[in-house]
Amino acid sequence: MPETAEAVVVGLGASGGIIAEQLTRAGIRVLALDKGPVHTSEEFTFKQDEVKYYSRGSLVPQLATDPVTWRPDETSTARLLPWAAGVRGNSEPLHLPPSIGPGGGTLHWGGASWRHRDADFHMKSLIEERFGPDALEEDSTMVDWPIGYDDLEPYYDRVEWELGVSGRAGNVKGAPDPEGNPYESPRERGFPMPPLRTAPADDRFKAACQSLGYRPFQQPAAVASTDYKSLKGCEYCGFCHGFLCHVNAKQSSRITSVEAALQTGNLEIRSNSRVFRLDRDPSGRRITGVSYFDPDGNVHQVQSNLVVVACYALENSRLLLASGINANGQVGQNFMTHSFGWCSLVLPEFSNPFMAPLVAASVVDDLNCDGVPDNDEGVLWGSVLTSIPGDLQPIEAAHNLPPGMRRWGQGFKDWFSENYRRLMGIHNQVPSFPSKKYYCDLDPVVKDKFGQPALRITHDWSEHDLAALKYFEKVKRAIAEEMGATQFWSEPTPPAYHLSTHEVGTHRMGENPADSVVDIYGESHECKGLYVVGGGQFPTLSGYNPTQTLQALAYLSADHILDKV
Ligand SMILES: Cc1cc2nc3c(=O)[nH]c(=O)nc-3n(C[C@H](O)[C@H](O)[C@H](O)COP(=O)(O)OP(=O)(O)OC[C@H]3O[C@@H](n4cnc5c(N)ncnc54)[C@H](O)[C@@H]3O)c2cc1C
Ligand code: SF4
Repeated sequence: MPETAEAVVVGLGASGGIIAEQLTRAGIRVLALDKGPVHTSEEFTFKQDEVKYYSRGSLVPQLATDPVTWRPDETSTARLLPWAAGVRGNSEPLHLPPSIGPGGGTLHWGGASWRHRDADFHMKSLIEERFGPDALEEDSTMVDWPIGYDDLEPYYDRVEWELGVSGRAGNVKGAPDPEGNPYESPRERGFPMPPLRTAPADDRFKAACQSLGYRPFQQPAAVASTDYKSLKGCEYCGFCHGFLCHVNAKQSSRITSVEAALQTGNLEIRSNSRVFRLDRDPSGRRITGVSYFDPDGNVHQVQSNLVVVACYALENSRLLLASGINANGQVGQNFMTHSFGWCSLVLPEFSNPFMAPLVAASVVDDLNCDGVPDNDEGVLWGSVLTSIPGDLQPIEAAHNLPPGMRRWGQGFKDWFSENYRRLMGIHNQVPSFPSKKYYCDLDPVVKDKFGQPALRITHDWSEHDLAALKYFEKVKRAIAEEMGATQFWSEPTPPAYHLSTHEVGTHRMGENPADSVVDIYGESHECKGLYVVGGGQFPTLSGYNPTQTLQALAYLSADHILDKV
């Protein structure tokens, strides 16, 4: 007889952790299945091992167990993505995918914690109003969100106060504060913790931006600036993004929502348990449970009429497709990601970039969203610009050298010993737009070691992505010059297979079951009792990092589930 569970949550990352906490607090017994191991902070007391965590990606999915393939268009053959483990010294990018095990991507994320602006929920209307009805390409599948900022504001507030975010508000109930973000949409109250401390290199960035007429402020961060609830104040250790926090300063569902759910006594976690199928009744209209592999590869079934799938946008859609839940052909469509623009500069004095979290930094929001100025370069939507004065470890720094610089030999050694301690970065991220051309499906050839088809991504950078990269490169160069940088260079345009860790859109939310996968609460239109949550729900991506928005959506889904049961 298969086992039964009141509710099953698949994946205990950023969104699954929140839903598990809310359900267990309400007295529902939850069985959580996660394909990764349970980590403890103690494992990371001596974590300063960049080779293990960064280069070899020991926290993240590996190629053999979680292959993903990519092709730029339908006429090309898909190739295996380098995924986590790229070979140092060649041109493969190494952007870590979200980690596995309770905590998910929040085990080793950077912690930039943003609310969307009101404008982000109406991207399509605003672009067409401003640039004309033909501004978007013919294949565009862009739509406005079915909900707005006001609907999510109370949930953004819960993320900040229940989980912990540091920062300075710029607009509390319409009252502006010049020290905060001058462009943020109104919030009911400020942050529960003050902003983090920043490095001297960040002061240079701030001063240069001010003299160019921008209005810099400190980035909101899911890193504790002081002790707060289960979080401890940050120690500015500098092994932050790509690493688990050894003092529990970085907000991670592992130590916030999952820990709180465990304390209710209503959560059972089965780690190293990989769900491979979502099971339905004979009509296909109702979820009946899930099937999973245990660590020894044995198959198990759990029956439940409430299943929440929270495995990240890519795996969520792979699971739906592998389970045959795609009657309207919309699963995997509308794939979006960020086009990252990294640049590096060398400062005249030491910046000591090996300290602090990535997010102890200033940002400029003047050119984000519909704030991007009218331009002849075809840029329709903007991006936040972020100073990166810290959290730059030596191997990572050696990955992005000035053009023409070799990664070996005396020339490299001389340059690196002279300049590593003077490095600093400026970053922007332009959202790609949804299009009929960009989607995910099941690879017809490549399978994982359990015999399951890999996810295949069909995606290439659009003209808009490339134009926006060029535009922001000029802006960053001007800031670097104003800062007095002695060298400035940009990473080459990201190859099309670059994954940003901000993949979204693949199980879009919408009111019309014909052209979306889930409703605004994340419930599948096709299969009742099945919730599919995370960034995959986003109709559009913004210029901000996505996690606080998908966490807010998780609170919204949890409230809805509790209203129904
Ligand atoms: C290096 C890095 C830096 C980042 N920095 C930022 C940042 O600064 N700001 C920001 O907003 N975002 C950042 N992100 C992105 C952020 O981590 C993700 O947006 C977020 O974690 C996504 O949440 P999720 O709940 O959808 O999935 P995840 O948090 O990835 O959780 C998915 C969970 O599902 C489990 N799982 C997957 N497949 C299965 C399966 N078949 N069966 C059982 N379990 C499964 C996984 O083990 C994992 O626990 C970063 C990511 C990385 C990797
Ligand atoms: S920099 Fe702070 S938040 Fe990041 S890992 Fe170190 S102590 Fe933790």
